[in-house]
Amino acid sequence: MLYKRSSQLFAEAEKVIPGGVNSPVRAFKAVGGTPIFVERASGAYLYDADGNRLIDYINSWGPMILGHAFEPVVQAVIEKAKLGTSFGMPTELETQIAALAMEMVPNIDKIRFVNSGTEACMSAVRLARGFTKRDKIIKFAGCYHGHSDSFLIQAGSGAVTFGSPNSPGVTEGTAKDTLLATYNDIENVKDIIAANQGEIAAIIVEPVAGNMGCIPPVEGFLEGLRALCTENGIQLIFDEVMTGFRLAAGGVQELFDIKADIVCFGKVIGGGLPVGAFAARNEIMNYLAPLGPVYQAGTLSGNPLAMAAGLAMLQTLHNDKAIFERLEAKTAYLHAGIEKVLKANNVVHTINRIGSMISVHFDEAAVVDFKSAAKGDNETFKKFFHGLLQEGIYIAPSAYETWFITDALTYEDLDFTIKAIDKVSKTF
Ligand SMILES: *Cc1c(COP(=O)(O)O)cnc(C)c1O
Repeated sequence: MLYKRSSQLFAEAEKVIPGGVNSPVRAFKAVGGTPIFVERASGAYLYDADGNRLIDYINSWGPMILGHAFEPVVQAVIEKAKLGTSFGMPTELETQIAALAMEMVPNIDKIRFVNSGTEACMSAVRLARGFTKRDKIIKFAGCYHGHSDSFLIQAGSGAVTFGSPNSPGVTEGTAKDTLLATYNDIENVKDIIAANQGEIAAIIVEPVAGNMGCIPPVEGFLEGLRALCTENGIQLIFDEVMTGFRLAAGGVQELFDIKADIVCFGKVIGGGLPVGAFAARNEIMNYLAPLGPVYQAGTLSGNPLAMAAGLAMLQTLHNDKAIFERLEAKTAYLHAGIEKVLKANNVVHTINRIGSMISVHFDEAAVVDFKSAAKGDNETFKKFFHGLLQEGIYIAPSAYETWFITDALTYEDLDFTIKAIDKVSKTF
C-alpha cells in the first residue's frame, strides 16, 4: 500500500502544528514513518488520503465502540446542529443523558459533564481533595489519567519516595503531592498509606489498565483498594474513561461488583464528540459549585451536539445488551486466532484481554504492571506495526496500547486480520 499523500500532508502539517499532530500519540515517534491522514471512516474501516482502506483497531482510541459514522449518532448530531450549536445555558438533553447514565452505572447519584477525560480526572481529584481536606493522591505507574499536572509523574526510586515530574512545566510542588504505586501490588499501596497517614485524599486507578497495554486487575487488587480507602477515609477514584460503557454498560464497577467513590468517564460517553464526565453519590457531588465550595466550570460543557451524540450512543448500548456479548465473542475469537499464528511462527508473546480490550506483548513473561509491560521487544513491535499497515490493518503506533474492538467488525475482518498477522510474523 502507498502512503504518499499522507506523508505530503504530514509535511504540510509539521510547518504549522507542533510535530504535525494535535496529540502526541498520533505521531509515529515510537514506530518510525509518518502518520496516516484520514479522509473518512465508516463502520470498521478507515479510508485514508491515498485511497487505502484500513481495518481500524483503534477506533479513535476507544469511543467508536459501534463503529465509525454510526447512523443514530450522526443523525442526532445533524438534527441538533440545525437548532444551534452552543448556548451556554441549560438544555433538557443534559438531564436526559445524565438520567440514562445513572440508570446504566451503579452507585452514582449525580454526574457532571466536561469536555475531555483529562478534565474529568482533574476535576475528580480536586473534588476528592476538597471533600477530604487532604492534599496527596496515589496514582499507579503506567496508568494514564490525562495530561493535567498532577498525573504527569514518573516512578521515583522507591515506593514511598515522592514522584518527580516527567514533563518540564510540572512544578516540584505539584509533583510532591502525587505518590506513585505499583499496579496490582496492594502491599505497596498499604506501605504508602502507612507512610502518609491522614494525608491522602484519593487513590486514582484505571480499574482495568488500558494505557500500558491491557492489564486486568489481579484477584483481590480492587477489593484491597476499596478496603484500604474505606479504612483510611480515602476517596477511591475509578478512572473509567476507557472502560466505562465498554467492558459492561455499568463499567468495571458492574463487572467486578466493586463500588468506587468517584467515577470518571470519557471516550464512549461522548459517542465520538469531545465529552468527559465525573460522577459520585450525592454527599460528594453536592460539594461541587454551585451547591458546594469546590469550583469547576466549562463554557462548552454539556454542549448540545456532544450530548446528542453521547445520548444516542448510550441509548443504543442500553437497549441492546447483547452488544457486550458480541464484542466479547469477537475479541475472544481474535485472541485465539492471534495466539495460534504467533505460536505456529515461534514468536515470543503474551496476549492480555478482557472484554473488548486486547493487547499483544512481545515478551513471554506475564504483563501485570508497568515494569513488565515495558519489557516487550519494541523492534519486533515496529515490524509488526508496519507489516500490518501494509496489509491494510491499523493498530496503535505504540507497543503500550490496547486494541479496541468494535461491534462493526465482521468475522471476515477478523479472519483477514489473523491471516495478515500470520504473514507478517513470518518476517520477524
Ligand atoms: C484517554 C484517557 C484519559 C484522557 O482522556 P482525554 O479525553 O484524552 O483527555 C484519561 N484516563 C484514561 C483511562 C484514558 O484512557
